[in-house]
Amino acid sequence: MNTIWARHALLPQGWARDVSVQIGKDGRIAAVRAGVAQVGLGYGILLPAPVNVHSHGFQRAMAGLTEGRGSNPGDSFWTWRQLMFRFLDHLTPEHIETITALAQMEMLESGYAASAEFHYLHHQPGGIPYDNIAETSDRIAAAADQTGIGLCLLPVHYQFGGCDGRGLGAGQIRFGNDFERFQVLHDAAAKALRHLPPDTNLGVAPHSLRAVGAGDLAGYGDLFPDGPIHMHLAEQIAEVDEVRHHRGARPVEWALANMGLDARWCLIHCTQMMPSETVALARSGANAGLCPITESNLGDGIFDGVRWMQQGGRIAIGSDSNIRISLSEELRTLEYSQRLRDHSRAALATGHHSTGRRLFDAVLGGGALATGRDTGAIRTGVWADLLCLDDGALPLVGRTGDVLLDSWIFAGDDGLISDVWSAGRHMVQNGCHIHRTAIMHAYRRTLLDLQATI
Ligand SMILES: [Zn+2]
Repeated sequence: MNTIWARHALLPQGWARDVSVQIGKDGRIAAVRAGVAQVGLGYGILLPAPVNVHSHGFQRAMAGLTEGRGSNPGDSFWTWRQLMFRFLDHLTPEHIETITALAQMEMLESGYAASAEFHYLHHQPGGIPYDNIAETSDRIAAAADQTGIGLCLLPVHYQFGGCDGRGLGAGQIRFGNDFERFQVLHDAAAKALRHLPPDTNLGVAPHSLRAVGAGDLAGYGDLFPDGPIHMHLAEQIAEVDEVRHHRGARPVEWALANMGLDARWCLIHCTQMMPSETVALARSGANAGLCPITESNLGDGIFDGVRWMQQGGRIAIGSDSNIRISLSEELRTLEYSQRLRDHSRAALATGHHSTGRRLFDAVLGGGALATGRDTGAIRTGVWADLLCLDDGALPLVGRTGDVLLDSWIFAGDDGLISDVWSAGRHMVQNGCHIHRTAIMHAYRRTLLDLQATI
C-alpha cells in the first residue's frame, strides 16, 4: 500500500484540503480521506489524470515536417496525408516501437494517465503481413510496457480506398485487411496485450465511412460486442461530399441512421456538422473525441462545442497526429476556437463552473467512458490515475479551487505537472518520466535512421 498526501485535491464532492490517497497493490485507489495530517513528503494539487482517447503514435516523428507550402499552392489535409504515406513506407516495427514510446512518455509528462492507440499501420511496406500478423500491435504493447501508460489498443479495420469500394492506394496498402483477415488480426492483437497490466484493454476501430463497407459498419456493434468502438467521422469537407455522393446522406446523418450509435462509440473529430446533426449526435450518447491541436494544424474547422455541450453531449480529448503533445494546450485550444468563432469569452463555462473546471470534468468523464477505463475521479475502487500540479509554480501561487485549473490551462503549461500515476504506476516524478533518458536516446537513433532513408 502506497500513500500520497496532497495539500489540495479535486474529489468527486469538490475541492478538499490535506487529502491522503491510498493506492492498493492492484493499482486501484483503496482509500481517500480529507483533513488528515501530512504523511511523507506531501504533494501540491492532486487531480484525476484523464485519458488521451485518440493517438497515432508513429506520427510523432513527422511533427514539423509538413509546415511548408512547397510547390503546391493548395496545400491541405490531403497533401499532408500524401507525405504521411511516403513517410510510413520506411517505418520498421522497431521504429514504430521507439516513436510510440516517446509519444507515450510525453503524454504521461503532460498529465494523461492512459492512451487509446488508433492503430492502423499493420503490415510490411507493400502490404504483406508480418509473420506475426499483429507484429506492430506487439510493438505498441512493448512501448506501453516501457512507458507504463494505461493502454487501450484499437486495431483499425481499413479495407477500401474510398466510399465507392475502390482498392487501397499505394500509400494505404500497409493498413489494409478485408473483414476476415481483420478478425484474425484483432484476435492476435488481444494476445499482444496479455503481458501488460490489468488496466490494459482492447477495443476496435472501423477507420471511417470511406474505408469500411456500409454493410459491415451497420453491424459493427454486433460484430464486436465487447469494448469501445472508435471511428473518424466528419473531419473534412471533401469527406462530407464523398459520403453524400455515394451513401445519399451526410456522414453524421448516415451514421445516426445506420450504426446504432451509443455510449460505446467514440467518434473522432465531428467537425463538419449541421446544427441539427450536432443536436442529434449529442443526444445519441456517443462521445465526441476532439483533437483541437491537430484539427488546428490540419485546418479542419471548428467543432460546434457550445451547442454540443448545451445538449449534454460528451467530449473526450485526443492528441491524434501528436504534432504537439500537451493536455493543457488541447483544452485551451478547444475553448479558444469557440471564442474566436463566436466573439465570446468563457464559451464553455457554466453558471456553476469556470471554463477550466467544466472542460476538465468533461474530458475526465468522457475519456473514461470512451475507452471503457474505470477512471476519472479520485475515489475508492477506480484505477489510481492521478496527476499532481506543483503548487509552488508561479501561475498557481495564491490560487485555490477552480481557479487552479483555469490558471494551469490558460496561464501555465505542462511544466506545472510534477507527478503522474497510471493505475498506481508512478511514472512521472519531479516533472520527468522515470525512463526518459533511455526512451529519448532510442528515439534519437530512430530519427537519424529515418532521416537517412527518406
Ligand atoms: Zn486520427
